[in-house]
Amino acid sequence: MITINEHYLKLQASYLFSDIARRVAAFQANNPHVEVIKLGIGDVTKPLPPACIAAFHQAVDEMADDASFRGYGPEQGYAFLREAIATHDFQARGADIQADEIFVSDGAKCDTGNIQELFGQQTRIAIPDPVYPVYLDTNVMAGRTGNYKDGRYEGIVYLDSTRENNFVPSLPTENVDLIYLCFPNNPTGSTITRAELQTWVDFARDNKALILFDAAYEVFIRDESLPHSIYEIPGAREVAIEFRSYSKSAGFTGTRCAYTVVPKECRAYDSKGGTQFVHPLWNRRHCTKFNGVSYPVQRAAEAVYSIDGKVQIKELADYYLENAAHVRQEMARLNFNFVGGENSPYVWINGGRDSWEFFDMLLNKAGVVCTPGAGFGRCGNGYIRISAFNSHENVQKAMARIHQALS
Ligand code: PLP
Repeated sequence: MITINEHYLKLQASYLFSDIARRVAAFQANNPHVEVIKLGIGDVTKPLPPACIAAFHQAVDEMADDASFRGYGPEQGYAFLREAIATHDFQARGADIQADEIFVSDGAKCDTGNIQELFGQQTRIAIPDPVYPVYLDTNVMAGRTGNYKDGRYEGIVYLDSTRENNFVPSLPTENVDLIYLCFPNNPTGSTITRAELQTWVDFARDNKALILFDAAYEVFIRDESLPHSIYEIPGAREVAIEFRSYSKSAGFTGTRCAYTVVPKECRAYDSKGGTQFVHPLWNRRHCTKFNGVSYPVQRAAEAVYSIDGKVQIKELADYYLENAAHVRQEMARLNFNFVGGENSPYVWINGGRDSWEFFDMLLNKAGVVCTPGAGFGRCGNGYIRISAFNSHENVQKAMARIHQALS
């Protein structure tokens, strides 16, 4: 008899986006004349930068020619891309990362979801609340949690991110082995300082723990005092894995390219307490279960680091940050408490009421769709997330409508 992995039965169906879609459809049916403006889902709206498109086209042409055609590539990614990443994203910022520590992939979602396979079943997991749900659900699937009770899974150490701690969780008081951190944060848009990140690195070193650092929104950092990578922090090479993505930085959400950094010294332990390096394990997993990102996509990603590419991706991020600034300005005028939007495309707003109530009010009174914070965890209740991924025109229109409806 074939049996299932019963840990899947513990998963809470995510009703968040289907609930949003249902409420939006009902609103549209009753208000066919109102144009609904969507500032909910975190997908980009602008096309790929011209430098990426040119490189993409050229690589497709290479695939059409006997002399330049390429079949299977290296699973870890082509050297041209891994070297460009190491040079521009890390060494240029003083972070000692080498090309052979980069693993190119088709998404930070898959990587942040798959990485837990490398660690023992008894691993004690610390996860922020609110959170990008992938970290939590993949550990539930792997059987590292108990059941879902009162809005949380048993066995997980939740790291509350609240106004009191400026949305940067405090160090856990319990023993934990694997710590998920994401900065600039989804959904709160909060950032972490060098000093704060240093305390996490020190904690991981002191407690034989490992940090999984998701920097998918790194391109939006404008405050030069903030770290872009955890490897800018002394001591991080032994205790941290970092995830990056071209999805939000270069509009690759539909094109798919990302990477994971596993430094050679990064370590975990076997059941006898012996040190084991993570790099060969991830290399083994990657080569066994993944066959590499397509050649044209890697060439398009490489173009991000060209002179034109660098200018274009900065312009792209600046475009969304202008939207975020406009959202912040309007929320301040309406006297809401909020965080984010300065080094992040997300603004996290305290509505002073239940998240869904706030969502319904913005939809019904202004025809604007946001994301209710409660969908990201218990600490998200009372908040909504507004995403800056839309056109200037739509964001301006949405803010004018919200202003009119609420002031
Ligand atoms: N990490 C965070 C925090 C995200 O918000 C997202 C996407 O929204 C991802 C990772 C996924 O990135 P990718 O498109 O590379 O899979």
